[in-house]
Amino acid sequence: MRAADTMQNAPLLGAGLPPVPDFDAVAERYRTFDRALGAGRAAQAAATVREWDGLRRELDTWSRLTRLRFTQDTRDERARAARERCDEWDAVFTGYDTGVKRRLAGNAARADLESSVGRHAFRLWDNDLATYAPEIEPDLVAESKLAAEYTRLTAEIEVDFNGERLNLSGLQKYASDPDRGRRADAAAARWTALGDRADELDALFDDLVHLRDRIAHRLGFDGFTPLGYARMRRVDYDRTAVERYREAVATHVVPVAHALAERARKRLGVERFALWDEKFLAAEPPPRPRGDARWIMDHAVGGLAEVDPRLGAFVKMMNDNELTDLVARPGKAGGGYCTSFPTLGVPFVFTNFNGTSGDITVLMHELGHAFQQFSSRDLPLTEYLWSTLEAAEVHSMSLEFLSWPLMERFFGDRADAYRRHHLAESIAFLPYGVAVDHFQHLVYAQPDASPAQRHAMWQSVERRYLPWRSYGDLARPSAGAFWQAQAHIYRSPFYYIDYTLALCCALQMWVSASSDRAGTLARYVALCARGGEAPFRTLVRSAGLVEPFDPSALPGVVAKARAYLELEP
Ligand SMILES: [Zn+2]
Repeated sequence: MRAADTMQNAPLLGAGLPPVPDFDAVAERYRTFDRALGAGRAAQAAATVREWDGLRRELDTWSRLTRLRFTQDTRDERARAARERCDEWDAVFTGYDTGVKRRLAGNAARADLESSVGRHAFRLWDNDLATYAPEIEPDLVAESKLAAEYTRLTAEIEVDFNGERLNLSGLQKYASDPDRGRRADAAAARWTALGDRADELDALFDDLVHLRDRIAHRLGFDGFTPLGYARMRRVDYDRTAVERYREAVATHVVPVAHALAERARKRLGVERFALWDEKFLAAEPPPRPRGDARWIMDHAVGGLAEVDPRLGAFVKMMNDNELTDLVARPGKAGGGYCTSFPTLGVPFVFTNFNGTSGDITVLMHELGHAFQQFSSRDLPLTEYLWSTLEAAEVHSMSLEFLSWPLMERFFGDRADAYRRHHLAESIAFLPYGVAVDHFQHLVYAQPDASPAQRHAMWQSVERRYLPWRSYGDLARPSAGAFWQAQAHIYRSPFYYIDYTLALCCALQMWVSASSDRAGTLARYVALCARGGEAPFRTLVRSAGLVEPFDPSALPGVVAKARAYLELEP
């Protein structure tokens, strides 16, 4: 029985760092699996797969809880040391897992195993095998450390602003301040702080690009891009499909986002719609939630129960078991994410609330991930607990829209302002997201480019996808450095497009819910329960959605968004 199924008073996760696994015992268990799978009998192989899966769930719980503790206080030396051990050991365990996958992929009993654990797992394992070789293990450890260095570098930035000492996440609340001068000052403070680390940020990325390119070539790939796709486990579409999708965004969405920026510029009565005006795309200040984090969670529990009893019961469980860390504070890593502990059967939501409307969007987003992870926790294989990431973002972004009926609770008579703001930001996000993706394709196509050339690449994609963007007198972003604030570019190459693919699906859920709320929620709940048991396009179609690579996916939702936002056709 999992801890989540029992009634208990102690916090589920306990306090502090989790116990460290016995490294030698883990290694011995992997050797046992290897011997058993080498024997090649189907019944024994199936039993070994179950044992292997149990071990992976234990190691996953340890690794994810250790990583959570580090991001909760990046200044805690013990937490950092524990995270560094995770980096090293995870790389070793990945090697062991690859050995098991190799035994399974080439197993005499493969056909029998495919029918018992599912074909999709084998597709993923074939894919994973291509991304790893024992001789790149030191490079993988180095890559992980460089990526963590970005987290440390940006998390330790503190800025004195408006009488407060803030980290970069905390400073973000001023991006939606009604006082335009204060917004501009906050943007300047942010970019001065990042500019002070400009050389480090350039050098760090240069190291990462070269390292990734070297890893790709050692694995036999023609550069990092195809390896990046394989790491993202894109088993049912390729870069041509993604390119087609970027084109569709440029054709259908960029003009709408541009028109929104232009209308907002006129309504705000400013000469230039600047970076620090971008939270005002709907041309009105976004509303602020009318209570603190505890109040927000209480209303999320009550409100989601009205939207769907299954969602309500789930969020109540999260709240009762304190499976959230919501408020920004110095030393806490930036951003928001959801993680999950397979042996406990519960997820955890990490955010940086700063008192803006974004808190509600982020909360619903992460609760969407958490609901999926909880709903699919009993699927039989670790592979299926989490979907590939573009499908995962469908779970999260759809809940952002499906929770629209709750907004009166958080914003009172300004709920409509929230909805307009959320939709306008979503529309404008699509071009930004594909810009980040296009930029990375350019970067990895020319790994030896200089930092200055990379900044020019960013400027070229900005002109194509973000033609309204203006940085005023901010020197660093004006010179092409804006991408350095985008952690994914450092930490998770080629991930970013997934948000836009998912948003294209979530917007379809929004359109569908406007005419059939109950039916749409039923399809959403069913999609979450499927977790990652199928690849992206299959999951999307099973939820009654048009896959984003289909040219008919965007025009319909864009027309509906235009009408909702009362833009001239
Ligand atoms: Zn997400």
